[in-house]
Amino acid sequence: MQFSGRAIERTPTLSDSPIFAFFPSERRKPIREALERARERVDYAIGRLKSFEEVRCLRWRCIDCGYVKKFTRLMPAEVAPPCAKCGGDQFQAFG
Ligand SMILES: [Zn+2]
Repeated sequence: MQFSGRAIERTPTLSDSPIFAFFPSERRKPIREALERARERVDYAIGRLKSFEEVRCLRWRCIDCGYVKKFTRLMPAEVAPPCAKCGGDQFQAFG
């Protein structure tokens, strides 16, 4: 192995990949840019997915009285009101 202790300690990056050694630097740039654009799209998609998951829940709790409304399917917050107990319309995801 030709890795020094220092090389092992740091986080490996894509440019460390042996395949990049075959590309001259001027050809690596567009590849890296394309990969970075792809990563941005993936990050964006993951972000969308997370926000989608956050707003849909099986159980919603009334902020006013704590009553928990249960659903058989994942539902967005808009369908939770009104509260069966106090008529409140403010709910938060519960569990
Ligand atoms: Zn309530």
